[in-house]
Amino acid sequence: MINSINQMAQATSTETGKSRFEQRVMDVMAKVPRHEFVPDSQNPYAYDNRPLPIGYGQTISQPYIVALMTDILEIKFSDVVLEIGTGSGYQAAILSELVDKIYSIEIIEELGNKAKKRLARLGYKNVEVKVGDGYHGWEEHAPFNDIIVTAATTHIPPPLIKQLKPGGKIIIPVGEHFSIQYLTLVTKDNKGEITTRNILPVTFVPFTGGH
Ligand code: SAH
Repeated sequence: MINSINQMAQATSTETGKSRFEQRVMDVMAKVPRHEFVPDSQNPYAYDNRPLPIGYGQTISQPYIVALMTDILEIKFSDVVLEIGTGSGYQAAILSELVDKIYSIEIIEELGNKAKKRLARLGYKNVEVKVGDGYHGWEEHAPFNDIIVTAATTHIPPPLIKQLKPGGKIIIPVGEHFSIQYLTLVTKDNKGEITTRNILPVTFVPFTGGH
């Protein structure tokens, strides 16, 4: 899995501007047991570099994409991060090893509750999961240094921009469902100005909810 991520990082360096991801990110990718985050039926494929079904029509993201999204945020140990789309909890576990605190929101109750139990069982103590619609962010714990969205939105939810600290970043797949989506990096400078940059065409499950 690690070799395959490294090869893909090299192959996509023109788009991402990086031929390899930071060592600390790759160390965590090598350490977190992905097989704990997939259903038993998917266990043989847990270390393949591809997304896998996790039930309820959802997927655990491709490891290369998890590494890319983690790397691109240039996170610091003192960061507080918001994740929208807990799914299996895998991305949250990866972040858990690299930042101070993660708040993660999942809209499907069963997935959210399962992820909460799984993360507790595996000892990821700095992750808090709640069930709800992540479109509105998590006001109570805002502002965040970084926000990571793991489902494709048609637009960047304004509440997330509001809950981002100056100097912070959002990584989010943006595009119409069943059409081209771009992994998009949103940065807020110290004056609060927003800049967006399309990184790479991607395929994510749709962002749902009532907005
Ligand atoms: N980060 C996950 C990837 C899960 S796929 C992992 O590592 O496994 C994306 C998830 O986003 C799905 O579980 C889906 O239910 C969830 N989702 C979609 N729309 C959402 C919304 N509005 N709020 C919160 N979660 C949402």
